[in-house]
Amino acid sequence: MRRINLPKKQRNILKIVGELAKKMNYFAYLVGGPVRDLLLGRTSQDIDIVCIGDVRKLAKRFSNEINGKLIYHHDFPNATVKFKGGKIDFVTARSEKYPKNKVGLPKVKKTNDIVVDLKRRDFTFNAIACDLLPDCFGNLLDPFGGLNDCYKRLIRILHPDSFREDPTRIFRAIRFMMELDFSLEHDTEKYLKRDLKYTRKLTHDRLWKEIKLCLKNGASILKLLKNYRVLDVLDLNFPDDSFLERVDIGAVQFGVNFVNTYIISLCENKNLNSLGFDNKFKQQMDYLRKIDNKRLRNVEIIHELLYLEDYSLLYLFGKYPENSIIIENLFDNRGELKCELSGKDIKKMGIKEGPEIGKIMSKIIEKRWIGKISNKKDEEEFVIKYIVVGNDS
Ligand code: ATP
Repeated sequence: MRRINLPKKQRNILKIVGELAKKMNYFAYLVGGPVRDLLLGRTSQDIDIVCIGDVRKLAKRFSNEINGKLIYHHDFPNATVKFKGGKIDFVTARSEKYPKNKVGLPKVKKTNDIVVDLKRRDFTFNAIACDLLPDCFGNLLDPFGGLNDCYKRLIRILHPDSFREDPTRIFRAIRFMMELDFSLEHDTEKYLKRDLKYTRKLTHDRLWKEIKLCLKNGASILKLLKNYRVLDVLDLNFPDDSFLERVDIGAVQFGVNFVNTYIISLCENKNLNSLGFDNKFKQQMDYLRKIDNKRLRNVEIIHELLYLEDYSLLYLFGKYPENSIIIENLFDNRGELKCELSGKDIKKMGIKEGPEIGKIMSKIIEKRWIGKISNKKDEEEFVIKYIVVGNDS
């Protein structure tokens, strides 16, 4: 029987879980990501515990014991206990049965067999359980050869229909290739290629959630998604190298998260209404589609640029290198691009209430954008000149 040495901090807390489970005649196992990460010598933030027994009672006893904060979840009987220095997710051991011949969510049932719970998992290295009961504390249950695959750094599905049943696993496989530096086992690669088409059947929410998790790893994962034809199958655009390089640089320079920037680029050729994005994101994409190099040089563009979120500006920075200075300027000076004079102030200076006040304020912002106005006094002088000359020159 293989055993695992848990780090001291985790060991003490997990021993408490195991002792309580024993007293209650339950079983408790550490499973999934944390076991895999320990085997690979990686630090894992998550602690996921599978319980055979009443998971809520176990979580409650544990929470009382360590003075934690207990949160019940309403889906499957699951609970989380938060405590100083971490949190533990407690889940009930379950089996999953997927609908035949279509992509959809599985029927979930409670089980008393840990192997049945492990069998529903994505890859062999995520299907290893570590026993927490005192007499067998640290013993590994590895019914699918996950340990061996960990050593060989191989991603292996548990059965040939795994990707068809849940095509999010295709994204997970590609993400783990990148994050763990693993390769696809021969048959797993064959089935992944065969079942790529099922990614089209995922709901928008599930699809974009997985793509976002992938994109957190930066541009290199886009190359993997392209090489495995995931982008082709989903009819997504592969951003060109110069865009990717510039987005990398801009993300660091402006301190902006690039995930949404990549998504905008992936969807460049798509109909905005076919993507399932929320209105705000759709609107950002709509603004961006109306901007090009020529319009970027027009001073009036500032009013549109001011509506853009950081990730959208990063997109423009990547897409229009000829005008990158405009975007740099915007990141640096956005705070100053507002009118210090209020509508009331302008009215007091002699302009009649109405749309003209808004027009003057817009002009002031444009003048600030090109550096012709930099303070309130300049604004006042501009308004006086406007009244006298009758235009904005
Ligand atoms: P990470 O947190 O680094 O992404 P993880 O493996 O802990 O890795 P989670 O998404 O938290 O990822 O999943 C926890 C566990 O649940 C996994 O280790 C795996 O056993 C199982 N799991 C997650 N998603 C799936 C899936 N789509 N199909 C089957 N099992 C899954």
